[in-house]
Amino acid sequence: MMGKNSGQIDVFNSMIYEKLIPKDHLLVKIDTIIDFSFAYDMLKDCYKDLGRKSKDPAMMLKICLLEYLYNLSYIEVVSRIKTDVAFRWFLGLNIDDNTPDDTTISHFRIKRLGEKRFHNFFNEIVRKCIERDLVKTKRFIIDSTDVAANVNYPSSKKLLCNAFRKLTKEIRKFNADLAENQLEAFETAIEEEHAKNEKVNVNRYSEIANKHLEYLYLKTYDELQTNEKYRESFGLLHDLIDQYTNNKKDKIVSTVDPDARVAHKSPGNVKRGYKNHIIVDEESEIILSSVQTPFNVGDEKKLVELVDQVEENFEIKPEELSADKVYGTIDNRSNLKDRNIVANIQFYNENSREIKIFGIKEFNISKDLERVTCPNGITTEKYTILKDKKRNQPMKSFKFDKKICLACTLIDQCLRKTKNGKSYIVRKVDISTRYDAILDGLDRAKTEEFRQAYNKRYKVERRFATMVRKHGLRRCRYLKLVGAKIHITLANIACNIIRMVNLLDPSHLAMP
Ligand code: SF4
Repeated sequence: MMGKNSGQIDVFNSMIYEKLIPKDHLLVKIDTIIDFSFAYDMLKDCYKDLGRKSKDPAMMLKICLLEYLYNLSYIEVVSRIKTDVAFRWFLGLNIDDNTPDDTTISHFRIKRLGEKRFHNFFNEIVRKCIERDLVKTKRFIIDSTDVAANVNYPSSKKLLCNAFRKLTKEIRKFNADLAENQLEAFETAIEEEHAKNEKVNVNRYSEIANKHLEYLYLKTYDELQTNEKYRESFGLLHDLIDQYTNNKKDKIVSTVDPDARVAHKSPGNVKRGYKNHIIVDEESEIILSSVQTPFNVGDEKKLVELVDQVEENFEIKPEELSADKVYGTIDNRSNLKDRNIVANIQFYNENSREIKIFGIKEFNISKDLERVTCPNGITTEKYTILKDKKRNQPMKSFKFDKKICLACTLIDQCLRKTKNGKSYIVRKVDISTRYDAILDGLDRAKTEEFRQAYNKRYKVERRFATMVRKHGLRRCRYLKLVGAKIHITLANIACNIIRMVNLLDPSHLAMP
């Protein structure tokens, strides 16, 4: 059952704490600003009515927070609680009270809280920022940063071997002989392959692994129906074989953390792990919402989700939203337009195109999307409605009169030639039926207000930098996506709490 500290630090201890802890200590300020008793209500469903009393959930929540406020591991935080009087005071402990051990903290984090309740904790802190009128709704900013998974990344061949060994480890638990035989047979087959050929590629490894997996499927069919851990390692090896055989883009990079993904952050800059997508209030720099994904999920896919979350959780929406070019898809721009949110999103520079053929931007498209005028001043109203297969949305395909084009002096800049090079292809301009949002964006990008708003995006970078430097964001402490979500959410919470203290007490200049 839920246990609660008496909340009473006795007179003797109070005197000691008062003498030793400075009034401007960070934890004193946090304690003045935030009442953590919300934890009792938030966690009441996690405890049974009967049984042994648990550790106080508000205290346990504060311990998780201390780890990220001071960038300590859960083992380090236990040592600090033992010796640091400010920590003990913050947790409501007397000098001689017992402290929770690292196993209890780990159990509380994984079993009691889990991803959803950490998310509620995050929302509770944001709600407090809104109640204190710290969050303005003039302009929000969206961006993402990488968070490395806490694992090493073996080569593709080693990854397959690791997955096979992991599978046989699970088999050993219910059939030791089968596990030994299969592992030996697999390793022998690989060795023989190397003896035959100087170079053995990963596809050959996959073929060998697949042969054994098919055998194991038949041999252990019943176990696969009931044994979840075995099914998990079986599935992992199956997915790895599939990714190499079919050259899948969505690549598993570790058997220890199979949810981590790899992608290029910029040309030549490969990152592996997860992403922290956030939306912040430009003025206060408070993080209002966050979504955590494997690293290969595109930033632009999370814009609507972030805006939705802020609106659903706190019933607020901004007048404007600033974001990098990558977020400027038609879907994002039209979604923001429909919500009456001005998009401060730049467009990609198209000057780098190799073949200089007039792009859509060289054509003048009427606001009602009924007419298109080409660079030679010819206007067409002829269009057919087609389906944009990529977006599964309708689009208008405008067509120019070929006879007029053949007499045009700009023909070589505008029309492509047929394959044999003897004729020209009719000029078409395809526009989404939501191109109105692009036209608005192009108009907006010419304004001084846009320039000023766009230049403020450094503020979101500043949040990321603080979280990396002070709250250990750069590398996940826990495994798999669920662990990454907890790690990232706690770093976001710590960052918001420090920001809250700074905003409510500007004299505290030492803080980030
Ligand atoms: S080629 Fe046709 S569409 Fe292109 S600029 Fe000339 S007249 Fe306009």
